[in-house]
Amino acid sequence: MKYCSNCGAPVEHRVPPGDTLPRHVCPACGSVHYQNPKVVVGALAEWGGRILLCRRAIEPRQGFWTLPAGFMENRETTAEAAARETLEEACARIQVGALYTLFDIPHISQVHLVYRAQLLDLNFRPGEESLDVALFDEADIPWREIAFRSIERTLRLYFEDRRRGHWPLHTGSILPSTNPPFD
Ligand code: ZN
Repeated sequence: MKYCSNCGAPVEHRVPPGDTLPRHVCPACGSVHYQNPKVVVGALAEWGGRILLCRRAIEPRQGFWTLPAGFMENRETTAEAAARETLEEACARIQVGALYTLFDIPHISQVHLVYRAQLLDLNFRPGEESLDVALFDEADIPWREIAFRSIERTLRLYFEDRRRGHWPLHTGSILPSTNPPFD
């Protein structure tokens, strides 16, 4: 941030009185512009044991496969975000089920949540941000072409849990990696 979104004056980066971290502070109007982590929400939607994946049309990780997921919007619930992202990226309607994975990714200041879900019909097709959308059996998952580590970990947990027949909520952290996928 270079300019104050309240008054347009150049901002300074410093620790405000009584705070502990540097913030973007406007010397003209006194506004403190806080920056906080972003929440990314996705859906693991099933149909007859197969999983809905989208191939990304946009960066980052263009051409790689992912679960439908994206940044939460203001004034929606996380479950609504999962359904909205699935509609936007796969033009697919789902019934959102239980929260399944929650990963903290502190080095990029994000939190990734994935809900389990049921696909309601087979009338899906690529949305604006997808090159392709398809249902995958476990044996056909393109493991080397999954876009993000939170999604790969969610898919691996899903197939393990399906074999065991129980569905706990999984939580964890994803730390920086020197190998792709980077985050
Ligand atoms: Zn200002």
